[in-house]
Amino acid sequence: MTATAHALVAGAIASKFPDPVIASSLAFTSHFVMDAVPHWDIGTHWRMRSKTLTGLLAIGETLLGMSVAYFFFIGKVPFLPLTLAIVFSLLPDWLETPWYIFFASSGKHEPSGRAGTAEKTAYRIYKNENFFHSKTEFPLGVLTQVVTVLFFLILLR
Ligand SMILES: [Zn+2]
Repeated sequence: MTATAHALVAGAIASKFPDPVIASSLAFTSHFVMDAVPHWDIGTHWRMRSKTLTGLLAIGETLLGMSVAYFFFIGKVPFLPLTLAIVFSLLPDWLETPWYIFFASSGKHEPSGRAGTAEKTAYRIYKNENFFHSKTEFPLGVLTQVVTVLFFLILLR
């Protein structure tokens, strides 16, 4: 899902569970639960754009999402658990980036037989993380995120 969706749910988690370890673990877990809901994000159809543009959009959306989460939750949640929850909610996507940045391309969906350890490791992280990943098109894929975020915000109120 978008960084904004992940960061908002992370804020709600930290407000309900301010313990830094619990907040971080739940936020990390929430990433995979949320990504299992069919959604659209910056990564959808990335092969149809340049890598640079996708990277810039992803960085921009991440900064936006973190800002929105701070805007809503700062003052209600102590800074440390809030920051840890936000970072851990986004960490799975950051761990995937080496595969996208260094190895994947528009015509390449997996390592070749002669790939090195770094490439194989990057691919394995990407592959494992995307086991439950589910995509759908814009705009339905945005609506599913709004519903998912609202569900968690109400659940964790
Ligand atoms: Zn993700």
